[in-house]
Amino acid sequence: MLSDLSRTGFYKKIEVKSRLAQERRALLRAREVAIKTRMNTENTIRDLLASFGIRLSGVKTYVGNAPEADVFIVLAKVVRQAQDTGPQGATAFIVDRGAAGFNVGPSDPKLGLDGAHIASITLNECRVSSEAVVGEIGKGFSLAFRSLDKARLHVAAVCVGASERVLDEALAYACERKQFGSRIADFGMIQSMLADSRTEILAARALVVDVARRMDEGQRVSADVASAKLFASEMGSRIADRALQIHGGVGYLKKKSVERFFRDLRVFRIIDGTSQIQQVIIARDMVRSYLRSREATEPDSK
Ligand SMILES: Cc1cc2nc3c(=O)[nH]c(=O)nc-3n(C[C@H](O)[C@H](O)[C@H](O)COP(=O)(O)OP(=O)(O)OC[C@H]3O[C@@H](n4cnc5c(N)ncnc54)[C@H](O)[C@@H]3O)c2cc1C
Repeated sequence: MLSDLSRTGFYKKIEVKSRLAQERRALLRAREVAIKTRMNTENTIRDLLASFGIRLSGVKTYVGNAPEADVFIVLAKVVRQAQDTGPQGATAFIVDRGAAGFNVGPSDPKLGLDGAHIASITLNECRVSSEAVVGEIGKGFSLAFRSLDKARLHVAAVCVGASERVLDEALAYACERKQFGSRIADFGMIQSMLADSRTEILAARALVVDVARRMDEGQRVSADVASAKLFASEMGSRIADRALQIHGGVGYLKKKSVERFFRDLRVFRIIDGTSQIQQVIIARDMVRSYLRSREATEPDSK
């Protein structure tokens, strides 16, 4: 099969080792395996995996729970050209922590979320077999995308819950703290921060529940999930910031949990796609839907 493969087509940056050759001779290495353009890629890669195994190499930073996890899902692709870095054609593999060539770095120190650890992972010719494939060959990214919608909506829901908690604390403090002979909750500018926060939480909660319901119904909601994540995560930072402001100086001290929420909520504007990436998803979907509907009503508008 290798001679077949090497005659034509795309160059693949994979290293293949023969199980038998490993035992008997040295290593049979095909650094540049070519694949016929017309050949079924799924079968080709499955054949390669079944016969020789594939070795994964690369680095992934910011892997959540990496310091504790025993099993990892790695998305990897056969790189055809140096600039071929997109997600298309990636395959998901299960890799054990103890696999040869698999290394988890030390936990990265960070601003918040002290209870959730991240680390970098390095794969150095880490061998996987066909049993390690999750889902279909070359469809790893759509698999990841499906779980990404859920993860983003989960983030949005977490932001709503954390914002409620932090607002409860701000309200309690505003009712307890007195300045110039009055409760600070009686000051208009404090009331304004409380009222805006309450209103935004209600809006975010309604948005998250609505998108979750439509997701459960099987509707296509990726862009709306992005809206929910964008709105709720940006809101979480705003509300934590106001809550800290309502607390005044003590809000900046470690002894108040509002200080921790201020740091913890910040990350949700970054993880699972930054706010800017959510905006890209939303805007692209809007443009695509508009052009599609215009084409449907005015076929000559292309
Ligand atoms: C605590 C923590 C936990 C994490 N956990 C995980 C995890 O478990 N698994 C995982 O895979 N990743 C994880 N991440 C990584 C996280 O998802 C990424 O950091 C995040 O998606 C941003 O990617 P980046 O850091 O490469 O930033 P970059 O992509 O380099 O972005 C830098 C800036 O450029 C902007 N930008 C980038 N592209 C565009 C564009 N097309 N248009 C407009 N603006 C753009 C971004 O919005 C940002 O402001 C984690 C990160 C942290 C901090």
